Amino acid sequence: MVLTYRYRIKDATSAPHLWRQAQAVNRVWNYCREIQEAARRHNKRSPSGFDLINLTSGSSKLLGLHSDTVQAVCKQFVASRNARGKRPRWRGRRSLGWIPFQAARAVQIDGNGVTFLARRYRLWLSRPVEGTVRCGSFSQDARGRWYLNLQVEVPTEQDCGTGEVGIDLGLKSLATLSTGEKIEAPRLYRQYERSLALAQRAGRKRRVRAIHAKIANCRRHFLHGLSTQLVRQNRRICIGNVNSSGLARTSQAKSVLDAGWSHLRSQLRYKAIRHGAEYLEVDERLTTQVCSGCGAASGPKGIADLGVRDWVCAECGIHHDRDVNSAINILISGRNVGLQ
Ligand SMILES: [Zn+2]
Repeated sequence: MVLTYRYRIKDATSAPHLWRQAQAVNRVWNYCREIQEAARRHNKRSPSGFDLINLTSGSSKLLGLHSDTVQAVCKQFVASRNARGKRPRWRGRRSLGWIPFQAARAVQIDGNGVTFLARRYRLWLSRPVEGTVRCGSFSQDARGRWYLNLQVEVPTEQDCGTGEVGIDLGLKSLATLSTGEKIEAPRLYRQYERSLALAQRAGRKRRVRAIHAKIANCRRHFLHGLSTQLVRQNRRICIGNVNSSGLARTSQAKSVLDAGWSHLRSQLRYKAIRHGAEYLEVDERLTTQVCSGCGAASGPKGIADLGVRDWVCAECGIHHDRDVNSAINILISGRNVGLQ
């Protein structure tokens, strides 16, 4: 399977160099956009990646780019155009820097650095580069930091756990497991609220961005720990397909939930593939209403019962925690799907 590894580039001194290349990339991109525009005006068919590569061939030296980068930009332009079904945007000075390359031979990774276009960049090698590098890019984040992204083909292994787990995503706890364990989301906003408010009032935009980035990093780090642990323990992982629309009151709460849930799902998905576990997303409807013991629809129903945290099944008399019951039902429907 293909994973993306991301490494931060150490030297600030290389930033102007990368920035110049990123500007040249924008020129190639906007040129592709102009060709596209001209084709449209003359009712010609849209240029293919092959056409654009032909049109731009020989320009790399003049632009100060790797020839491979020019080709990668053309290909990405066509891919974005086809994926979205509309014209890609122009890239300007405010676009975040991006320098793609498509062949592994464009970069040489050695020790704790990478050589690209005869220039060496030092990396924070947060993890060793395993597997075969396919392609990659240099990219910039909103804080102006540069990163090397590598698309790496890694072998899949069969080293997941032996258990089974159902996961109910929620508002109150981040996740409830069918084992009865409740996982609370770290209270990051509370922790950073004060410094965030101070920075906002003082109008320190850089600081505000830094704190937001810090919160996002902490959350991602926490979710990585959780997803790794779940894959280590289980060979089958079932999760509800819930989304936050209609659940969260405010748009901010919604975006925070969305980010957490979708990160957890995507991490579980790729880690399951990588470690040979089964990952299943199941329909969440009715999972709160049905008793996981006997299957009777004796649980809380509808909006009126949204506040009911625990209940006793009228049919079999089992005392249920709402979320744990839901997680067990998710596991049960996952088993049924998995057998097919
Ligand atoms: Zn029951």
